[in-house]
Amino acid sequence: MDFLPLFCQLQNKPVLIVGGGEVAVRKARLLLDAKAKITINAPHLEPQLMSWAEQGRLTVCAADFHPELLDGKWLVIAATNQPEVNHQVFHEANLRQIFCNVVDSPAHCSAIMPAIIDRSPLMVAISSAGAAPVLSRQLREKLEALLPQHLGQLAALAGKLREQVKLIPDKLARRRFWERLFSHERLACQLARGQQQAAEQSVAELLDEQPQSKGSVTLVGAGPGDAGLLTLSGLQQLQQADVVVYDRLVSQAVLALVRRDAERIFVGKEAGRHCVPQQAINQLLLEQARLGKQVVRLKGGDPFIFGRGGEELETLAEAGIPFSVVPGITAASGCAAYSGIPLTHRDHAQRVQFITGHDKEGNIAQEWSALAAPRQTLVFYMGLAHAARIQDALQTHGMPGHTPVALVEQGTQLSQRVVRGELQQLAELARQVKSPSLIIIGSVVTLADKLDWYGEANAIHGI
Ligand code: SAH
Repeated sequence: MDFLPLFCQLQNKPVLIVGGGEVAVRKARLLLDAKAKITINAPHLEPQLMSWAEQGRLTVCAADFHPELLDGKWLVIAATNQPEVNHQVFHEANLRQIFCNVVDSPAHCSAIMPAIIDRSPLMVAISSAGAAPVLSRQLREKLEALLPQHLGQLAALAGKLREQVKLIPDKLARRRFWERLFSHERLACQLARGQQQAAEQSVAELLDEQPQSKGSVTLVGAGPGDAGLLTLSGLQQLQQADVVVYDRLVSQAVLALVRRDAERIFVGKEAGRHCVPQQAINQLLLEQARLGKQVVRLKGGDPFIFGRGGEELETLAEAGIPFSVVPGITAASGCAAYSGIPLTHRDHAQRVQFITGHDKEGNIAQEWSALAAPRQTLVFYMGLAHAARIQDALQTHGMPGHTPVALVEQGTQLSQRVVRGELQQLAELARQVKSPSLIIIGSVVTLADKLDWYGEANAIHGI
């Protein structure tokens, strides 16, 4: 982090702006909004600055810059069109440990002015540490459009309610209140229309409502890795969760989207250690929900495809805990898309089968003659350990040894690797990749010659 975002209270605090042109006007306007006590130092001033001076809103020192002007200042902005003057201001400010912003010269800034979206008291500030101000501004435009005007009123209302809400004894109930307040559609409309009385009534009703005492569990599919593949609904759940129970397949990129102060519980296999047994996970979900928490059980891919999601829900259903499910993009869809292998294609495959490499007891019992039939695509999950067996059984049941196969390791992630070959080499190819990998078998694999956009893009960018 090059700059720490910080919001400063400058009300009635002396600040200095060196320069009297257009840029100085813009900075002065902002500092006036912040109610700072401004001195402008410049031999010549824009008419706007003159008029503010005449109105007594700022003080003018119409001379060349001299370091004594910095005495007692909290912040200084150098906005002249003479780089050497700006640099001198920066140097002198540094000596006195006063934060200094030199306009358009990030190397000479100990403070930078972010692009802002002002919904006071709610404020969004965006900075690229001076590297890409235009990008910051574009982002601001997008956020401006996205953030409704009434957010400021909502934040102000929250400020007024703080003391009252502190009286709610339970921490979780307090958070629930805030969450309900901020997502209250009717209240939002009332604030937007300035219907003060109606808004107060809505707040009173919310305060009266009994907080939900029962927790709940949501199974959320995290997708195969690329955070962009998480659903909007999944993201909302991650933002509202009190506790997130996740395992090995969930990528760091998706975990980064979990609400910051949510508790995270890892139940996957760590190097050299065993997985938390399924029964213990089921119990954990139950216990957390019984504490009244909103639990998210975050699973790689889709929770209902080889994810044991069903087993976890059965326990909750038996205990009467409310639950819901947010689907995710399963590894087969993700890996296929990101390696340019359409799972079906009218010239190649009219059927696709998702198959697990092993059942509950670790066996791979399948109806091999049906799987070896032509014009279909087979996708094996958890198949690496059984690759030799899969190869052997399919060939024995009549699938040609030259049938194309692809193994996709860490699909959809920047580290994705695709290894391609023929069925008769499957066992050998499986030794070249690591878990998690998916095995795709069928002539659709050849389409990647033309359609592998992701591998190409990664190769071009040297990833
Ligand atoms: N519920 C998950 C599957 C869990 S089973 C889903 O819908 O995707 C675990 C297996 O999924 C792994 O052994 C591997 O075969 C496959 N898998 C999951 N994520 C993967 C990824 N990013 N790349 C390749 N294979 C993946």
